[in-house]
Amino acid sequence: MNQLMDTRQEKYLSWTINGIFLLIHILLLIMFSVCGVTPMAWFNVFSVAFYIGMIFVIYRAHFRFFVDAVYVEVLAHMSLAAVFTGWDNGFQITLIGMSVLAFFAEFLGRSLKMPYVRAVPLCLMGVLCYAGCFVICNHIKPAYVLPQSLTDWLQIGWGVITFCINIAALSAFTMISFHADQLLSRQARTDSLTGLPNRLVVNRTGREYMRAGGWLAMLDIDDFKQINDTYGHNFGDEVLITLADLMQKNAADTTICRWGGEEFLLMGIAEDDIFPHALLDKLRHEIEQHVFRCDDKQVRLTVTLGLAPYHGETDLTDWINLADKKLYLGKRSGKNQVVQ
Ligand code: GH3
Ligand code: MG
Ligand code: MG
Repeated sequence: MNQLMDTRQEKYLSWTINGIFLLIHILLLIMFSVCGVTPMAWFNVFSVAFYIGMIFVIYRAHFRFFVDAVYVEVLAHMSLAAVFTGWDNGFQITLIGMSVLAFFAEFLGRSLKMPYVRAVPLCLMGVLCYAGCFVICNHIKPAYVLPQSLTDWLQIGWGVITFCINIAALSAFTMISFHADQLLSRQARTDSLTGLPNRLVVNRTGREYMRAGGWLAMLDIDDFKQINDTYGHNFGDEVLITLADLMQKNAADTTICRWGGEEFLLMGIAEDDIFPHALLDKLRHEIEQHVFRCDDKQVRLTVTLGLAPYHGETDLTDWINLADKKLYLGKRSGKNQVVQ
């Protein structure tokens, strides 16, 4: 997978989440102070200082510590708030949203190959706190009673916040997974050196050309080993890349795949019997004329092609083998030619 996020982007994401949590705790500090819930007001003084401190933790890129610490802070805050003010205020609902965030944080950490949080133990702590709050709230009367209108708003507020966290985290997860999947399947079908489709693509596309009654040709560089031995393997790689570009420019409407090594498979639709031979011979000529350069080195090369127009072969492998046999004939009879 290409880098899905760099450290700078992860810092911005963490600062944004931290900023939202800081804002919520400032509002809670005001709310608890006004309602006279003194222990929770003091807790929120600590929480505000905690989230200000987290700005520096994020700056130092300690993402795992950030997520673990925030999870524990929210767990402690929301459980105490539920116990002090009662179940009906819905503080405990936020623990559900935190579980989703914990899994998203673990996914990001694993994908970025960084130290990552363990979501399952965190969520188990969340479940225990949720159940604990339920038992305590059912057995002990809350020490502080909030006005009913505030209770209603809190219930709605925690519900909305939890929905927003779930929607944001799950839609980000869905998009990232989808793009990663697309990227992987594209990479699996592409030759990493030349960027051409690879052998896997031949199996699918080759059958389409069989049904359309097209043509297929195997191209092999002549004496490529000698080029490698004389100019080095890196130069050989550069030659393969340039050759791939040259073929794509000079054989438009043709599917070109890297079959392996210095062999390429070309497939197209036949307008008539002479067309593919003429097209490929022109391509062979263009390659022969081209000067391949790398640093101060330059070289010319030739290619041999075996061409097999479709003649009712039932198996794709038979069709490819036929082109390979023609290529072999071309190599045996002097190279630098198209054999049909
Ligand atoms: P012929 O004309 O009979 O095809 O001779 P040849 O030298 O081209 O064929 P041979 O099969 O003897 O050698 C093929 C060479 O291609 C050997 C191998 O090192 C080189 N080769 C295969 N893949 C790569 C590659 O990805 N990069 C480079 N630089 N060389 C490669
Ligand atoms: Mg070869
Ligand atoms: Mg060769």
